[in-house]
Amino acid sequence: MAEIGTIGVVGAGTMGSGIAHVFARAGFHVLLCDVEQRLLDRALGQIRANMLREAEKGKLAPADVEPALARIALTVNREKLAGADFAVEAASERFDVKSEIFRALDRILPAAAILASNTSSISITKLASQTRRPAQVIGMHFFNPVPVMALVEVVRGMATSEGTFATVNSLALKLGKTPVAANDAPGFVSNRVLMPLINEAAFTVMEGVATPEAVDQIFKLGMAHPMGPLTLADFIGLDVCVDILRVLYEGFGDPKYRPCPMLVRMVDAGWLGRKTGRGFYTY
Ligand code: NAD
Repeated sequence: MAEIGTIGVVGAGTMGSGIAHVFARAGFHVLLCDVEQRLLDRALGQIRANMLREAEKGKLAPADVEPALARIALTVNREKLAGADFAVEAASERFDVKSEIFRALDRILPAAAILASNTSSISITKLASQTRRPAQVIGMHFFNPVPVMALVEVVRGMATSEGTFATVNSLALKLGKTPVAANDAPGFVSNRVLMPLINEAAFTVMEGVATPEAVDQIFKLGMAHPMGPLTLADFIGLDVCVDILRVLYEGFGDPKYRPCPMLVRMVDAGWLGRKTGRGFYTY
């Protein structure tokens, strides 16, 4: 495996900033790229605040905060990613957006570089087909909040090589994460199993079987889940949940994945969960 020193991260939203955080914390140089400078500035502010909180909690040496932040360079010019050895794409969950980025990264990055996507549900095989290096395209699926969650779901597309898979596994370990393998199928493992649980929980509320509080308590006390499925749905974003359910529904052509109509109505109303102050709960 060639030495990987500089990581390109495309998309500086919730996930991209978390991904930049964990790579910089682990000693890598990071080129963080988004479409507007203000989004990059906001991301760096968030990373700084999160690293300082880690230092307060004793999870990061206070003296390591500024050096880690100094390893993150911000850019709106993705041609700068020519200097990266590895890229993680964490842009908006739309195939047109991601396919355009993959075609550009394929042109810009060195021939040996691996192109990874943090997508929750889009086919890695299809993204790989947008490039001339499908063997070096892979899913590197982090979980929110990235600095806290231990899992990286490593998703092999049809053409992903064993070398690419091994490199991403070892990178995940260097970040202090636990990589777990899955193959490319709609929702991979995490969302294919989680989203039907959230959807069914929403159906029980819609049908008056139980209140959101009761549903969540049943999962916390009866199944030892740290948070109930509806609290989790509010945290993820109800719009994101509906989008992923639609990917499962279309990808498998199976009606068992149809989004709960109440969930769809809540999204139509702008009740997206925590981020808008209202979902199954008010914040
Ligand atoms: P987000 O909306 O917070 O951030 C997306 C960012 O991508 C935005 O800042 C946007 O400006 C940027 N972007 C859009 N087009 C771009 C382009 N052409 N070039 C550069 N930047 C561009 O979204 P997010 O929640 O961070 O999700 C990002 C990805 O991570 C998605 O694929 C999502 O499915 C996946 N994901 C999200 C979560 C989660 O819990 N939020 C968990 C796992 C995976």
